[in-house]
Amino acid sequence: MIPYGRQDIDQSDINAVIDVLKSDFLTQGPVGPRFEQAVAEKVDAARGVSMNSATSALHVACMALDLGPGDLVWTSPNTFVASANCARYCGADVDFVDIDRQSFNMCPVKLEEKLKVAKTAGRLPKIVIPVHLCGYSCDMQAIHQLAGTYGFKIIEDASHAVGGKYLDMMVGSCAYSDIAIFSFHPVKIITSAEGGMAMTNDPQLADRMERLRSHGITRDPDLMTHAADGPWYYQQLELGYNYRMTEMQAALGLQQMARLDPFVAARHALAERYDTLLGDLSVRVPKRRADIYSAFHLYVIQVEDVARHRSVFEALRENGIGVNLHYIPVHLQPYYRTFGFAEGDFPVAEDYYSRAISIPLYPAMTHEMQDSVVAALSGALSA
Ligand SMILES: *Cc1c(COP(=O)(O)O)cnc(C)c1O
Repeated sequence: MIPYGRQDIDQSDINAVIDVLKSDFLTQGPVGPRFEQAVAEKVDAARGVSMNSATSALHVACMALDLGPGDLVWTSPNTFVASANCARYCGADVDFVDIDRQSFNMCPVKLEEKLKVAKTAGRLPKIVIPVHLCGYSCDMQAIHQLAGTYGFKIIEDASHAVGGKYLDMMVGSCAYSDIAIFSFHPVKIITSAEGGMAMTNDPQLADRMERLRSHGITRDPDLMTHAADGPWYYQQLELGYNYRMTEMQAALGLQQMARLDPFVAARHALAERYDTLLGDLSVRVPKRRADIYSAFHLYVIQVEDVARHRSVFEALRENGIGVNLHYIPVHLQPYYRTFGFAEGDFPVAEDYYSRAISIPLYPAMTHEMQDSVVAALSGALSA
């Protein structure tokens, strides 16, 4: 089976984890902050707050922006459920903005139309969570401009996009957002096994996210309600969680950072080769703007003939090609239907779902493997 994605672990990664296991700290040691600093420097953000997953980081980011019951969050229907669930953890309501046909990302034109209606109805979102699908950045300038007009905060779900660029900036620089979230799950661009990180340029948001990932506890005397009882003293200021990343995870992530650029370059080379190899097949390949450099977490094709979608998918799996589908529209999940969402609510995301197939793409993939994917796809399409 050629999987749709796979981690790339070398001896230096293994050694880094073993070194931590022999050291004094398995958690809350020196490696976590080094990993945070390495990612922050790479993407040109002031701070990074590591967590045990991107899902935890999304939750804490919403909390740090004071999201609560009665508030509203908008995200893309074409994403993993975690992009919406983070709002529900805070008791907030969720709605969606349909995607753009070219980028598969949240459409800024539809966002503006929906904001106009919401303003009249007095029900504007507190936070908008654009998702950089496949590692290809949303149109952040347009979304940021609307945030200024309509007064919402922006959390980028950049789970797919570490190593990608928007205009001349690294995704995660937060030039057009309050917080950006990376995932280090093994199928993503770099891995810490499980893990995530929240990037921000706002030191107060970063401090608060650090507290929230560790029970809401502080040891900073300036934040305490009264002078410390003694050197052992700490205070819990608000309700937080244990969302910390271990030192083994941080060591793996830090070591992987050294290969971030080669990983993304390898993904690009393979994606461009796919563009050429798939040119004559009856599938749509991802289009991209010259000024957005995708991290190419995923390479998604769309079959022209909707009626053939399932049979092509099944034929690929039967031929040992581990294809997948990103994503089932979130609003059609049974849990979200309980809030009244139904088929037809977000037609572009639903049309995309009826055609999309993620075909294998990862740095260690060879041209031979890629050729066999294309041959299997060609066979499935002409069967
Ligand atoms: C993977 C992913 C997440 C969740 O990441 P975890 O690190 O597994 O919690 C959230 N959003 C998107 C778009 C993802 O692809």
